[in-house]
Amino acid sequence: MRIGGMQKTSLIDYPGCLAAVLFTIGCRYDCFYCHNRSLIPAEGSQKTPQLSEERVLEYLRYRSMVLEGVVISGGEPTQQGDLIEFLGRVKQLGYSVKLDTNGSHPDMLSGLIASKLIDYAALDVKAPWERYQEICGSAADAAAVQESLGVLGRSDISWEVRTTICPTLEEEDMKQIALQIQRVPLWRWNFYRRPVDYKESDALRVDGPVLSLRRQQELAVTLHGVTDD
Ligand code: SF4
Repeated sequence: MRIGGMQKTSLIDYPGCLAAVLFTIGCRYDCFYCHNRSLIPAEGSQKTPQLSEERVLEYLRYRSMVLEGVVISGGEPTQQGDLIEFLGRVKQLGYSVKLDTNGSHPDMLSGLIASKLIDYAALDVKAPWERYQEICGSAADAAAVQESLGVLGRSDISWEVRTTICPTLEEEDMKQIALQIQRVPLWRWNFYRRPVDYKESDALRVDGPVLSLRRQQELAVTLHGVTDD
Protein backbone atom coordinates (compact mmCIF):
# COMPACT_ATOMS: atom_id res chain seq x y z
CA MET A 1 0.00 0.00 0.00
CA ARG A 2 1.16 3.51 -0.72
CA ILE A 3 0.33 5.48 2.44
CA GLY A 4 1.11 9.19 2.54
CA GLY A 5 0.02 10.09 6.05
CA MET A 6 -1.46 8.97 9.33
CA GLN A 7 -3.48 10.84 11.91
CA LYS A 8 -2.72 8.87 15.02
CA THR A 9 -5.96 9.57 16.87
CA SER A 10 -9.32 10.96 15.79
CA LEU A 11 -12.63 11.31 17.59
CA ILE A 12 -14.54 12.57 14.58
CA ASP A 13 -13.69 10.48 11.52
CA TYR A 14 -15.34 7.20 12.56
CA PRO A 15 -18.75 7.61 14.22
CA GLY A 16 -18.62 6.18 17.74
CA CYS A 17 -15.01 5.02 17.44
CA LEU A 18 -11.69 6.32 18.63
CA ALA A 19 -9.71 5.76 15.45
CA ALA A 20 -6.47 6.26 13.58
CA VAL A 21 -6.82 7.68 10.07
CA LEU A 22 -4.63 6.55 7.17
CA PHE A 23 -4.31 8.62 4.00
CA THR A 24 -3.47 6.61 0.90
CA ILE A 25 -1.61 8.01 -2.10
CA GLY A 26 -3.23 8.36 -5.51
CA CYS A 27 -6.62 9.47 -6.76
CA ARG A 28 -7.89 9.51 -10.34
CA TYR A 29 -10.34 12.28 -9.56
CA ASP A 30 -9.30 15.91 -9.55
CA CYS A 31 -11.94 17.73 -7.50
CA PHE A 32 -11.30 21.46 -7.70
CA TYR A 33 -11.71 21.84 -3.92
CA CYS A 34 -9.53 18.85 -2.94
CA HIS A 35 -7.77 19.33 0.38
CA ASN A 36 -5.33 16.50 -0.22
CA ARG A 37 -3.97 17.65 -3.54
CA SER A 38 -0.49 16.32 -2.74
CA LEU A 39 -2.03 12.83 -2.50
CA ILE A 40 -3.57 12.92 -5.99
CA PRO A 41 -0.55 11.76 -8.09
CA ALA A 42 -0.42 7.96 -8.19
CA GLU A 43 3.14 7.86 -6.88
CA GLY A 44 2.63 10.80 -4.53
CA SER A 45 4.37 14.15 -4.82
CA GLN A 46 7.61 15.43 -3.38
CA LYS A 47 5.54 16.94 -0.59
CA THR A 48 4.25 13.50 0.36
CA PRO A 49 6.62 11.27 2.25
CA GLN A 50 5.53 7.66 2.07
CA LEU A 51 4.93 5.66 5.25
CA SER A 52 5.80 2.00 5.10
CA GLU A 53 3.06 -0.53 5.77
CA GLU A 54 5.19 -2.11 8.46
CA ARG A 55 5.59 1.16 10.31
CA VAL A 56 1.84 1.80 10.19
CA LEU A 57 1.01 -1.73 11.32
CA GLU A 58 3.55 -1.49 14.10
CA TYR A 59 1.82 1.64 15.41
CA LEU A 60 -1.61 0.00 15.14
CA ARG A 61 -0.32 -3.07 16.99
CA TYR A 62 1.12 -0.87 19.72
CA ARG A 63 -2.15 1.10 20.09
CA SER A 64 -4.57 -1.79 19.74
CA MET A 65 -5.59 -1.68 23.42
CA VAL A 66 -6.56 2.00 23.13
CA LEU A 67 -7.84 2.59 19.60
CA GLU A 68 -10.99 0.88 18.36
CA GLY A 69 -11.01 1.71 14.69
CA VAL A 70 -8.99 2.49 11.61
CA VAL A 71 -10.23 4.83 8.89
CA ILE A 72 -8.72 4.24 5.48
CA SER A 73 -9.05 7.46 3.51
CA GLY A 74 -7.18 9.22 0.78
CA GLY A 75 -6.44 9.89 -1.97
CA GLU A 76 -8.60 6.96 -3.00
CA PRO A 77 -7.86 3.69 -1.17
CA THR A 78 -9.86 1.41 -3.49
CA GLN A 79 -7.62 2.04 -6.49
CA GLN A 80 -4.73 0.19 -4.81
CA GLY A 81 -4.80 -3.51 -5.62
CA ASP A 82 -3.24 -4.61 -2.34
CA LEU A 83 -5.92 -2.94 -0.19
CA ILE A 84 -7.55 -6.30 0.54
CA GLU A 85 -4.32 -7.79 1.80
CA PHE A 86 -3.49 -4.72 3.88
CA LEU A 87 -6.91 -4.53 5.52
CA GLY A 88 -6.69 -8.25 6.23
CA ARG A 89 -3.62 -7.46 8.34
CA VAL A 90 -5.40 -4.55 10.05
CA LYS A 91 -8.36 -6.80 10.84
CA GLN A 92 -6.05 -9.41 12.37
CA LEU A 93 -5.16 -6.76 14.94
CA GLY A 94 -8.82 -6.63 15.97
CA TYR A 95 -9.76 -3.25 14.51
CA SER A 96 -13.08 -2.08 13.18
CA VAL A 97 -12.46 -0.52 9.74
CA LYS A 98 -14.14 2.41 8.03
CA LEU A 99 -13.52 3.13 4.35
CA ASP A 100 -13.81 6.63 2.89
CA THR A 101 -14.27 6.32 -0.86
CA ASN A 102 -15.18 8.33 -3.92
CA GLY A 103 -16.96 5.24 -5.27
CA SER A 104 -14.76 4.85 -8.33
CA HIS A 105 -14.12 1.10 -7.80
CA PRO A 106 -17.36 -0.73 -7.06
CA ASP A 107 -15.75 -4.14 -7.64
CA MET A 108 -13.16 -3.51 -4.96
CA LEU A 109 -15.86 -2.16 -2.64
CA SER A 110 -17.91 -5.28 -3.20
CA GLY A 111 -14.88 -7.51 -2.55
CA LEU A 112 -14.05 -5.72 0.70
CA ILE A 113 -17.60 -6.19 1.95
CA ALA A 114 -17.74 -9.85 0.89
CA SER A 115 -14.43 -10.49 2.66
CA LYS A 116 -15.73 -8.72 5.80
CA LEU A 117 -12.81 -6.32 5.75
CA ILE A 118 -14.81 -3.13 6.28
CA ASP A 119 -17.48 -2.38 8.87
CA TYR A 120 -18.48 1.11 7.76
CA ALA A 121 -18.25 3.00 4.48
CA ALA A 122 -18.61 6.69 3.67
CA LEU A 123 -19.34 7.17 -0.02
CA ASP A 124 -18.88 10.58 -1.61
CA VAL A 125 -21.64 11.66 -3.95
CA LYS A 126 -20.15 14.91 -5.05
CA ALA A 127 -22.57 16.26 -7.62
CA PRO A 128 -25.55 15.48 -9.82
CA TRP A 129 -24.43 12.70 -12.15
CA GLU A 130 -24.36 15.00 -15.18
CA ARG A 131 -22.03 17.46 -13.40
CA TYR A 132 -19.57 14.88 -12.11
CA GLN A 133 -16.73 15.52 -14.55
CA GLU A 134 -17.13 19.27 -14.30
CA ILE A 135 -16.57 19.13 -10.51
CA CYS A 136 -14.35 16.05 -10.12
CA GLY A 137 -12.29 16.05 -13.31
CA SER A 138 -12.41 14.21 -16.61
CA ALA A 139 -11.55 10.79 -15.10
CA ALA A 140 -14.57 10.85 -12.80
CA ASP A 141 -17.12 8.22 -13.74
CA ALA A 142 -20.60 8.82 -12.34
CA ALA A 143 -21.72 5.34 -13.47
CA ALA A 144 -19.15 3.75 -11.13
CA VAL A 145 -20.42 5.85 -8.23
CA GLN A 146 -23.99 4.74 -8.99
CA GLU A 147 -22.77 1.15 -8.96
CA SER A 148 -21.05 1.69 -5.60
CA LEU A 149 -24.27 3.13 -4.22
CA GLY A 150 -26.03 -0.05 -5.30
CA VAL A 151 -23.32 -2.23 -3.71
CA LEU A 152 -23.75 -0.45 -0.38
CA GLY A 153 -27.53 -0.55 -0.62
CA ARG A 154 -27.42 -4.35 -0.91
CA SER A 155 -24.84 -4.76 1.86
CA ASP A 156 -25.31 -5.36 5.57
CA ILE A 157 -22.58 -2.94 6.73
CA SER A 158 -23.16 0.55 8.15
CA TRP A 159 -22.72 3.31 5.60
CA GLU A 160 -23.41 6.89 4.72
CA VAL A 161 -23.29 9.24 1.76
CA ARG A 162 -21.32 12.48 1.98
CA THR A 163 -21.57 15.65 -0.07
CA THR A 164 -19.40 18.73 0.26
CA ILE A 165 -21.48 21.80 -0.42
CA CYS A 166 -18.89 23.47 -2.60
CA PRO A 167 -19.10 26.62 -4.74
CA THR A 168 -21.19 26.08 -7.90
CA LEU A 169 -23.45 23.51 -6.18
CA GLU A 170 -26.86 25.15 -6.23
CA GLU A 171 -30.13 24.25 -4.53
CA GLU A 172 -31.32 22.46 -7.64
CA ASP A 173 -28.16 20.36 -7.61
CA MET A 174 -28.80 19.30 -4.00
CA LYS A 175 -32.37 18.37 -4.92
CA GLN A 176 -31.04 16.38 -7.84
CA ILE A 177 -28.55 14.55 -5.60
CA ALA A 178 -31.35 13.77 -3.14
CA LEU A 179 -33.34 12.18 -5.95
CA GLN A 180 -30.40 10.21 -7.27
CA ILE A 181 -29.34 8.73 -3.91
CA GLN A 182 -32.95 8.16 -2.78
CA ARG A 183 -33.25 6.64 0.69
CA VAL A 184 -29.92 6.18 2.47
CA PRO A 185 -29.05 5.52 6.13
CA LEU A 186 -27.39 8.94 6.46
CA TRP A 187 -26.64 11.79 4.08
CA ARG A 188 -23.92 13.93 5.62
CA TRP A 189 -23.32 17.44 4.30
CA ASN A 190 -19.78 18.70 4.70
CA PHE A 191 -19.15 22.41 5.00
CA TYR A 192 -16.92 23.83 2.31
CA ARG A 193 -13.43 24.86 3.36
CA ARG A 194 -11.43 26.78 0.83
CA PRO A 195 -8.38 24.67 -0.15
CA VAL A 196 -4.91 26.13 0.33
CA ASP A 197 -3.58 24.36 -2.77
CA TYR A 198 -5.57 24.53 -5.99
CA LYS A 199 -4.98 24.80 -9.70
CA GLU A 200 -4.67 28.29 -11.07
CA SER A 201 -7.45 27.54 -13.51
CA ASP A 202 -9.75 26.93 -10.51
CA ALA A 203 -8.98 30.25 -8.78
CA LEU A 204 -12.42 31.68 -9.56
CA ARG A 205 -14.44 28.70 -8.42
CA VAL A 206 -12.57 28.07 -5.14
CA ASP A 207 -13.64 31.57 -4.14
CA GLY A 208 -17.12 31.26 -5.59
CA PRO A 209 -20.27 31.72 -3.48
CA VAL A 210 -21.55 28.81 -1.39
CA LEU A 211 -25.13 28.20 -0.28
CA SER A 212 -25.60 30.09 2.98
CA LEU A 213 -25.91 28.16 6.21
CA ARG A 214 -29.47 29.37 6.59
CA ARG A 215 -30.38 28.17 3.11
CA GLN A 216 -28.69 24.84 3.79
CA GLN A 217 -30.80 24.44 6.94
CA GLU A 218 -34.00 25.23 5.02
CA LEU A 219 -33.01 22.83 2.28
CA ALA A 220 -32.29 20.08 4.81
CA VAL A 221 -35.87 20.41 6.03
CA THR A 222 -37.26 20.39 2.48
CA LEU A 223 -35.25 17.35 1.49
CA HIS A 224 -35.91 15.43 4.71
CA GLY A 225 -37.95 12.41 3.83
CA VAL A 226 -36.49 12.05 0.34
CA THR A 227 -33.31 10.48 1.68
CA ASP A 228 -34.18 9.18 5.17
CA ASP A 229 -34.27 5.44 5.46
S1 SF4 B 1 -11.90 12.26 -4.62
FE1 SF4 B 1 -11.07 13.11 -2.72
S2 SF4 B 1 -8.84 12.84 -2.85
FE2 SF4 B 1 -9.69 12.55 -4.90
S3 SF4 B 1 -9.49 14.57 -5.86
FE3 SF4 B 1 -11.55 14.42 -4.99
S4 SF4 B 1 -11.42 15.32 -2.95
FE4 SF4 B 1 -9.30 14.86 -3.65
